[in-house]
Amino acid sequence: MNKNYPLVFLLVLMLTACNLPAQNTNVDTPIPPTQSQSGPVQILSPQSGANLPAGPVTIQFTATGGPFVEADLSVDGAPVAFIAQDGTSTSISGALVWNQPTAGSHTLTVVALTLNKEVLSTSVQVTVEGAGGVGQNSSGGQTPTAQPTQDAGLEAARQRVIQILHDTYGITVTDPPVGRKLRQGVTTDPWTSAVYYKDWFINVSIYPDGREIDYAYPLNYSDPQALSNVMKPGDKPVPMCRPSGVIKLLVVFVDYQNLVVTQQEALDSLTQAVDQINGRYLEASQAVGLSSPIMELQATGAYLSSPPATLDLLLTPELIRKSTGIDPSQYDILVQVDLDANDTSGLIKRTGSYGFDGGGCIPSPNEVHMWIAISQKDQLSISASEPRLVNTLGHEILHTMGYPIGLTGLHEWVCGDGTQADGTDQCDQNNLPTLMMGWTDTDGDGVVEILDTTPYGLQSP
Ligand SMILES: [Zn+2]
Repeated sequence: MNKNYPLVFLLVLMLTACNLPAQNTNVDTPIPPTQSQSGPVQILSPQSGANLPAGPVTIQFTATGGPFVEADLSVDGAPVAFIAQDGTSTSISGALVWNQPTAGSHTLTVVALTLNKEVLSTSVQVTVEGAGGVGQNSSGGQTPTAQPTQDAGLEAARQRVIQILHDTYGITVTDPPVGRKLRQGVTTDPWTSAVYYKDWFINVSIYPDGREIDYAYPLNYSDPQALSNVMKPGDKPVPMCRPSGVIKLLVVFVDYQNLVVTQQEALDSLTQAVDQINGRYLEASQAVGLSSPIMELQATGAYLSSPPATLDLLLTPELIRKSTGIDPSQYDILVQVDLDANDTSGLIKRTGSYGFDGGGCIPSPNEVHMWIAISQKDQLSISASEPRLVNTLGHEILHTMGYPIGLTGLHEWVCGDGTQADGTDQCDQNNLPTLMMGWTDTDGDGVVEILDTTPYGLQSP
C-alpha cells in the first residue's frame, strides 16, 4: 500500500496546479471583486438592462488604476474570456467577447487585475434573446454558431504528438486528441494532447515558439515505482484520476463560525453541487450517444465546527477519522472546504487562488489534497451570482485528471470537444474539456476514447 506518497510531490503538483505566478492572473477563481458601477472599471457597452440579439456578445470596457496584468469577462460568475496585459499600462480599454451566449438574463462582469493583485470589477445585467429568431429564412445564414477552429498549426502539432507518443512512450496511435485554446490577447497558448492509456496519463504541450514538454503520470495507480520504465526525471508520481467510472470524494467542511451556516446547509450545498456536476457529466455523455454517464462523483459530506489545530489549518486523515468517525482511506480524494469570511488559513494569499488540487486519485490518501475557500454564505448555492463551491469543485476535479498548467502558467487544455474555437480561460463542469478527457471519438471507431480498448487509433501497445 502507498502509505506515504511523499509530501514533496504533492507540493510540486500543487504549485503547478493552481498557485499561479503574479504575471498569470487567471487564478482559479479570482479573489472576490469589489463591485462598483462608477469605479475604476467601466463597461461602455452593452448598457445595463440591454436586450441583445442572439449571437456573440462584445463587451467594450475601460479600466484605470493599473498597472494591469489581465482583464477578464465572466458571465454569471463563470469565466468566459480574458485579455492578458504585460503589467506596464495603468489603463486598459478594449473588447471582450462572449462567443456562445445562451438565451436569458445574465450578469456580465469585467474584472481587471493589477500587478499588485488588486481586483477591480463592474457588472451589468443583460438579456440575450433566443437563438434562431423570427424572420430567418431557410438558408439559416444568421444562425449564431461559433466558428470552427481555424488553426493552421493543428495538423503539424498532431503529427508531432504522434511522434512523441511513439518515440518516448512506445505507443503508436493515429488519432490522439490535440487542441489549442484561442484566447484573445494570448499568443503563447500551446497545442496540447492528453492521452489516458493503461496505467498512464500522458500530457504533451507544443508551444508556438517551438518549446515542447511531455510528461507521464501514473493513473489510478497504487505503485508509482512500478512505472519506473515510463517515468522520466521530473515526472510526478502522483496518480491522476481516470476520467471514467466512479470517483469517491470525502468533503469536510470546516466552519470558522462567521458565515452563519448550519451543518445541514453545508451538507445540502454539497449535494446540490455534486448533483449539478454529475448532471453535466451525464449531458456530455448523452451528447456522444451514451445513456449512462462516463463518470460520476460520489461525495460524502462531513462537518467540523472548528478548524484543526494544525500549523497550516489543513486537516489530516487522522484528524478526520477521529472527529467524524469516517475512514478517509475509503475515498479517492479528500477535500477540505473552509467556511471562513476571513481567510484565516491565509491560503488564498499564499496560493493566489481560492481553490487548489494537490493530487489526483490516491488510494488511501494521506493528505487533504483539495481545498476550497468559501468566504460568503451564498457562494455555497448553485444559483448564486458566484456559485463558488460548485464551480471550484467542478474545476479542481479536472486537475485531478491531469488538467495542466504548463510553461505559460495558464490552464492549457482546450475546453469543449475541439470542434469550436475555445476563447475561455478555464474549464469546469459547465465547459468540460471533453476532447482532452477522452470523451470524444477521435479515431472514428464509434467508441469514445476513454471507453475504447483500442483508443486514439492504437496501432500497437
Ligand atoms: Zn486550476
